[in-house]
Amino acid sequence: MNYAARSGTSVADARYPGSTSCDACGAQAEWHRTVRGRWTMIESGDWPVGSVPVGKRWHIAGDGTAVNLGSASPSDKCRISHFDVCPSRPAPADSPVMLALWRKNAQLGG
Ligand SMILES: [Zn+2]
Repeated sequence: MNYAARSGTSVADARYPGSTSCDACGAQAEWHRTVRGRWTMIESGDWPVGSVPVGKRWHIAGDGTAVNLGSASPSDKCRISHFDVCPSRPAPADSPVMLALWRKNAQLGG
């Protein structure tokens, strides 16, 4: 049993990294540590793996670690890195879903 379940509140541990806003565009995203020990911003929400190009599919493991799925698809949903849909970067041309997210972030950031 973990602390969060016992207290009924979320706690600031690795499993609940919390949301932050992107320095470049101001959009909300979640920080997660990758298996290589770096940090990446993950967009909220799950997306069908078929709508996200191979190499840009992420999965959040049970301990909060962000795992790039590569060509593997352990489930039919995946997450997207904010860095791939940040309007401070060129628009993603290879996925309509990611382009829609990029446009949404561009509007929010103003
Ligand atoms: Zn951004």
